Amino acid sequence: MPIWATAVWESDSAEHAYEMAHSVGPDEFYSRHGNPTVSAFADAVADIEGAEGALAFASGMGALASVVFALCSTGSHIVATTQIYGTTATFLNGPVARMGIETTWVNGSEPGAMAAAVIPGRTMLVIAETPSNPTLDIVDLDELGAIKAPFTMVDSTVATPFGQQPIQHGVDLVLHSATKGIAGHNDVTLGVVSGEQELLDDIWRYGILHGASASPFDAMLALRGIRTLDVRQQRQSDTAIDIATRLASHSAIRAVHYPGLPEHPQHDRAAAQMTRFGSVVSFQMDDGDGFARLVERLNLLRCATSFGGPETLICESWTTTHSGLEEDARRAMGIHPGFVRMSIGLEDVDDLWDDLDNALSPT
Ligand SMILES: *Cc1c(COP(=O)(O)O)cnc(C)c1O
Repeated sequence: MPIWATAVWESDSAEHAYEMAHSVGPDEFYSRHGNPTVSAFADAVADIEGAEGALAFASGMGALASVVFALCSTGSHIVATTQIYGTTATFLNGPVARMGIETTWVNGSEPGAMAAAVIPGRTMLVIAETPSNPTLDIVDLDELGAIKAPFTMVDSTVATPFGQQPIQHGVDLVLHSATKGIAGHNDVTLGVVSGEQELLDDIWRYGILHGASASPFDAMLALRGIRTLDVRQQRQSDTAIDIATRLASHSAIRAVHYPGLPEHPQHDRAAAQMTRFGSVVSFQMDDGDGFARLVERLNLLRCATSFGGPETLICESWTTTHSGLEEDARRAMGIHPGFVRMSIGLEDVDDLWDDLDNALSPT
């Protein structure tokens, strides 16, 4: 697929121009309405998800904002899981609340909690994230898919479409920040939402007003990323379980979060709904102030946000990704000083362990 680096297409007749201006997602009109390179990327994601279709956006947050404002109005109600991406929480508690759309927060790992919070006739959307970034809690996808009156959406970014397929569990919409594993090289900002075409058409009608449209160049880079997503994810998952297992018995570590570990509280559920456990491993350092020293002593691992790329990255959630939330809110999500999110890359597992073990050890 070439990069269609154009904002406009020429019509050879007034009739064709009229037709393009009045169709949903046209590929030959204006790039905010549709672009062949962007559509090829979205179609590839829909294919892997087993979804009828998909829509691409300029970022994961652009996708989220487009879905929420396409489906909700003042007075609408949303149910969301507390274990969620920090910026998603900031968005729902900030601008979304300001528009008179109320969110009820529930523990997504507690059986029945999501369904119990639905207010018949008012709840428009149930939003869950699994595995959650960065605490890696698991939501039961069958339970989410069984909720019928409101629309259900899962943020499946951490799993990638090769790690789990929420559509097969009856969930209406699957959202990804393709910035992460899907594009996979830390050089793209992109979002994508998969689901039934009729629902996506409604989201598209709002999306072109919101304007978070994906760049064709980014879509092409993400298509390149998808070619190797399967093997990258396999390698990263293999390395992640190895590193998580070694970390679990390290004296400087209080707790390790990884759904692939048998001691993870929802390991059985994760094993039932995921084919791989993904590239993100989080851990709580014994020393809450130890992150600065850790970064100073690392050589191979790099201090940066984001995940799903070739390089192994670490960041302290308290001071970076979740610093926009009140301290109490952060602690309620299980995020404390010294809570580190690690994105496992493609390096040799022993090189990674040597670097990490050396940086964590005393003296
Ligand atoms: C990064 C991320 C987002 C936001 O995506 P952007 O592409 O950065 O806008 C949403 N959800 C999860 C789980 C993420 O990791």
